Amino acid sequence: MPLLVMKFGGTSVGDLARIANAAAKVKREVERGYDVIVIVSAMSGKTNELVGWVEQTSHLYDAREYDAVVASGENVTAGLMALRLQQMDVPARSWQGWQVPINTTSAHSSARFVDIPRANIDAKFAEGFKVAVVAGFQGVSHEGRITTLGRGGSDTTAVAFAAAFGAERCDIYTDVDGIYTTDPRISPKARRLDRIAYEEMLELASLGAKVLQTRSVELAMRYKVRLRVLSSFEDTDESSGTLVCAEEENMESKVVSGVAYSRDEAKLTLMSVEDRPGIAAAIFGPLASAGVNVDMIVQNISEKEVGGNSIAVTDMTFSCPVNQVARAQKALTDAAASGTITYDDLIVDTDVSKVSVVGIGMRSHAGVAAQMFSALSAENINIKVIGTSEIKISVLIDRKYMELAVQALHDTFALERA
Ligand code: ASP
Ligand code: MG
Repeated sequence: MPLLVMKFGGTSVGDLARIANAAAKVKREVERGYDVIVIVSAMSGKTNELVGWVEQTSHLYDAREYDAVVASGENVTAGLMALRLQQMDVPARSWQGWQVPINTTSAHSSARFVDIPRANIDAKFAEGFKVAVVAGFQGVSHEGRITTLGRGGSDTTAVAFAAAFGAERCDIYTDVDGIYTTDPRISPKARRLDRIAYEEMLELASLGAKVLQTRSVELAMRYKVRLRVLSSFEDTDESSGTLVCAEEENMESKVVSGVAYSRDEAKLTLMSVEDRPGIAAAIFGPLASAGVNVDMIVQNISEKEVGGNSIAVTDMTFSCPVNQVARAQKALTDAAASGTITYDDLIVDTDVSKVSVVGIGMRSHAGVAAQMFSALSAENINIKVIGTSEIKISVLIDRKYMELAVQALHDTFALERA
């Protein structure tokens, strides 16, 4: 039997009517001849409520009990979905993580898959069951304790099942109808993409297009799982949504496929740091230990006069999320107090955003950066920091120009046209 994985996110199973609507989509695939593994999230808002209950009960909680509590949201939807399918005469049963079993590491609340043995679920398909409804986001450790995969982890559960069971496709049903060239709330010209390459999706996911958990895209890329993002609130067919797939399958291949943004960034500059081997390690080591996610880094060499001698110094600029600025400042002032680094000043700018253009085609096309910079210059937007990778160019700009920059870049690369 060909097999499909269908994943329904929190809003898609947010109440009993929505569970029935999702079940109808599952039934349609069964009627088309598929065996189906359904992965469900908790009903929308449920996981937040459960996390809140844990935090109100115990400040420094036992991570194993946290997982036992927060994993329960998915158990409820799995059972309800199986019941609804049975009402529709579809032979279905629910599976909690330990029943499959979904074996994971014992890193509670951020567990990783060890393996997903197929035997139990395969045996039920062989008995005539058409649907296995599996609770997403959870697993079991080798100590026999319930684990969870980290927020948004049901996407990753879905991809892992698609890989383990050799599914034809992994369909992620959600509250949007696909992946867009940019955020439609910012540019009304944003267009839904029919296809996007794994690498591009990874850049967009980590840049703030919050549709898929980044880990799920990494896993899909590694195991070549064809991943489709589509709406659970619309009538959908084979051509709906956006297919995330290998580059070879992606015929659209424009040079730039999307414009991403990250609104709440900060830029920090250490002025006149000594220019010597080991200085970057002495700065970024303590930042990493303090849990600061440093993104872009720029270093500028200059000279300064000390007692009549000119010594080489460097200004070190980096960016991080705004809510990590206090931690970054403390890590750097502590490092200065302990004498491992010296600097003249620490300048902090918390009013910046990052805007990026992403596209596989950049690998083989020159001139994307020049076109990006002239589009920004035409709008009089000053670029504060530039960063690049093989398939992405990012700039830091003043936050008040973020929307304008996204629109200008969407226009200059004509992303509204297929
Ligand atoms: N229910 C979990 C969460 O809200 C996992 C998921 O929905 O993917 O993070
Ligand atoms: Mg999600």
